Amino acid sequence: MEFPIDRFRELQTPFYYYDTALLGQTLQTAQSLLMPDWHIHYAVKACTNPGVMHRIAEAGLGADCVSGGEIRAALAAGFPSESIVFAGVGKSDWEIELALGSDIFCFNVESIPELEVIQEIAQRMGRTARVAFRINPNVGAHTHENITTGRAENKFGIAMEDMVGVVRLARTMANVECIGLHFHIGSQILDMEDFATLSLRINELQEVLASYGFSFPHVNVGGGLGIDYEHPDLSPIPNFKDYFDTFKRYLRLHKGQQLHFELGRSLVGQCGTLVTKVLYVKQGNARQFVITDAGMTDLIRPALYDAQHKIENLMRQSPLATYDVVGPICESSDVFARDYRMAETRRGDLLALRSSGAYGEIMASQYNCRPLPKGYLTEQL
Ligand SMILES: *Cc1c(COP(=O)(O)O)cnc(C)c1O
Repeated sequence: MEFPIDRFRELQTPFYYYDTALLGQTLQTAQSLLMPDWHIHYAVKACTNPGVMHRIAEAGLGADCVSGGEIRAALAAGFPSESIVFAGVGKSDWEIELALGSDIFCFNVESIPELEVIQEIAQRMGRTARVAFRINPNVGAHTHENITTGRAENKFGIAMEDMVGVVRLARTMANVECIGLHFHIGSQILDMEDFATLSLRINELQEVLASYGFSFPHVNVGGGLGIDYEHPDLSPIPNFKDYFDTFKRYLRLHKGQQLHFELGRSLVGQCGTLVTKVLYVKQGNARQFVITDAGMTDLIRPALYDAQHKIENLMRQSPLATYDVVGPICESSDVFARDYRMAETRRGDLLALRSSGAYGEIMASQYNCRPLPKGYLTEQL
């Protein structure tokens, strides 16, 4: 990736930089591989930078929201309400009202109590809620434990074996229209076998439901496609081809069924970079520390998920040295990398923490009374 380093020098660090050209190419690649009747809803929670969201809306994708705030952000960014799906295990009454009032495309319903509340609110508002059932397919994705969502023991979704009863119940509700089945097994998944397994589970479930006379016009397989954090320059665009081909090959849709995807990380991860300035290079007893002005408040993924982001010194390339790269926050987990080989670094150097476009800026906090980092797209510099 080429960085406009001269402009970077003039900006207050740390900040997020989004490469608009790469974002555009990524969106275009994903869109170009879709079959007719396939749709991508951008998982807004990955990055709600308004410029980034606006670009994605402009490219014609829908939105996948997990809160009322995200629905508002999606509408403000220009996503049409009829392209919005709304998931989440704990939807508040006001969020359901907002979604019904905005006439979004579909609620992804995660439990019977939720379904009952949606019916009640829809009736009071004189609306019909379109719903898809989020099913927990009990597929263990090969990814970090904190980001698998499709196993039996976590809080998401409805168990496969409860589905027939849930559909029967939903059909008795006057203000609920059942339009689909929804799945999402986790995030940062690079093993296509997981998506193949998911597809086979969906086939099984669709067969069971069909034997009871139940079929729905929409199937939503969620998101979760991973990106290459180690080699952002070798694979700047994720392997959408293998991902979509897996569903083409394994998923058996009924006639006329539309297929929906909810991609987050894979669309925005590689275009984003956290740019930080080196405050100090400190010689410890056994280790050398590079202390940056960005910390876990700006990028929490290393502390939260043991994530490894590639770190580049934007000022120099050699000779190499070994550092622990750490932030200024008063927490021992505020570490970006340990024993990391990078160019010999000096105070004032700018570092790039690569592949930070997803679950970066939006997860920033003000812990330690720190200001939130700003985000800039290429054309905003
Ligand atoms: C987070 C989430 C996604 C997006 O996941 P990615 O790994 O970023 O693609 C999709 N669907 C649901 C329901 C989610 O919670």
